[in-house]
Amino acid sequence: MNFQNRFIGLGPEFYQAKTPDPVTDPYLIDFSPSAGQLIDLSPEAGSSRGFIDQFSGNAPMTGAQPLAMAYSGHQFGSYNPRLGDGRGLLLGEVQNQGQEMWDIHLKGAGPTRFARGFDGRATLNSSIREHLASEALNGLGVPTTRSLAVIGIRELIYRQRPELAAVLVRIADSHIRFGSFEFFHYTGQEKNVERLLEFSIRNYYPDIVEESDRYRIFFQRTLQRTAKLIAKWQAVGFIHGVMNTDNMCITGTTFDYGPYGFMDHFVPNYTPNHSDTHGRYAYNQQPEMGFWNLNKLAETLTPLIGAEILEEEMKQYQPTFNRFYREEMSKKLGLAILDSEFTQLVQKMFQLLHDHQLDYTNFFRFLANYPIQSASSNNDDLRSWLSHYLELAQREGMSHEERKAQMDATNPKFILRAHLLQTALDKALKESDFSEISRLRILLENPFQDQPEVFEEHEIEHYTQDTPETFACRQTSCSA
Ligand code: AMP
Ligand code: MG
Repeated sequence: MNFQNRFIGLGPEFYQAKTPDPVTDPYLIDFSPSAGQLIDLSPEAGSSRGFIDQFSGNAPMTGAQPLAMAYSGHQFGSYNPRLGDGRGLLLGEVQNQGQEMWDIHLKGAGPTRFARGFDGRATLNSSIREHLASEALNGLGVPTTRSLAVIGIRELIYRQRPELAAVLVRIADSHIRFGSFEFFHYTGQEKNVERLLEFSIRNYYPDIVEESDRYRIFFQRTLQRTAKLIAKWQAVGFIHGVMNTDNMCITGTTFDYGPYGFMDHFVPNYTPNHSDTHGRYAYNQQPEMGFWNLNKLAETLTPLIGAEILEEEMKQYQPTFNRFYREEMSKKLGLAILDSEFTQLVQKMFQLLHDHQLDYTNFFRFLANYPIQSASSNNDDLRSWLSHYLELAQREGMSHEERKAQMDATNPKFILRAHLLQTALDKALKESDFSEISRLRILLENPFQDQPEVFEEHEIEHYTQDTPETFACRQTSCSA
């Protein structure tokens, strides 16, 4: 691989250089060929001994200069000055044949100087959760870090109880977080804030390097990408769970998967993080939390850009988010005329979804077939909403088939439902059977279409069923 290692050029204040700790008996849990493509790996690469040894940390990689990045951040509203990659290592940036640069990062590669007494390892459970969600969000067209592979290691680690451990291989366009800027800002290293900013512009927004107001444009772009990302989360019903500023990437990419969740039947304040007792990062709080986090980023840039300019830029967040969100909703509903009737229709729809506990995902797939396949519903308000919807659909002058094709390309048939994920986790953890992980990854790589060559009809039915009540609105603890 063609390692470039740009980040290391920033200097020692930005990281700790450290090689991964060796592991015992690494074995492959799952490999994502489509993520491998990003760095020119063949679809079979994951099963070679060399791959497993190198990507688990047991064998050095030619050209890699592994490091743990320094960062801090606001967690649940409070500043935590001591974070940093406690168990993650950036192996380096690799340039692929298409001249794209990709960060390669190991999660669970042993404790670094940022580990604060923790063991530097990741549980197999949490690694599988990140792996599947990364690949699922990518399949949904949501910007996200990718998961190349999960590699199990034969070591027990201790959380509430002994657990199996793993190393996750993450590929990302960037690992620079809002918290990376915060670290230098709050330690009074203004020069390093500026160096990080120049670095980010040069590497992620090269088209603006010559602009005299590039700092401002950088902030604008970060704001736009963040707003767009969250609009997409809302549209697919993804709840991140831990939107702390150290989990916000400056390229507007879904970053660091922990206690996330997908919307089952529609519950606007669904909070998948078990420890988030106040619902700070609930589904309906995500847009607002994006704003809050951008404000924290803005604070770090105030000495460089100026408070007034940043305030002006921040005023753009709400309208920008609304614009992206309406675009998403318009695609989901197959409607292009975005007037006040449309707004009303959407508002009423969410009320109905909530009142009747309708499955958020399946609702839109049903809608694409309506009225050809009509609902045997005895809800008067649902029926009247559907006829209002049809009226709006008809004034667009699109045939049913056209509308359906467009909607089915936007609204997923398959999402990573909590019970499906749990089955894959149980099989892996209790029976060392990893087949369901691979199957879910393949299913969710293309969540808009059946893949009859891989899945039989009864399986497709199983994967599309509403989430059983016992799994709906599931909460996960951070350590899981
Ligand atoms: P996370 O919840 O993975 O975003 O982690 C929050 C912070 O705790 C980061 O600084 C992590 O690197 C650190 N951390 C989490 N788990 C561990 C661990 N097992 N060993 C070392 N550091 C950890
Ligand atoms: Mg994190």
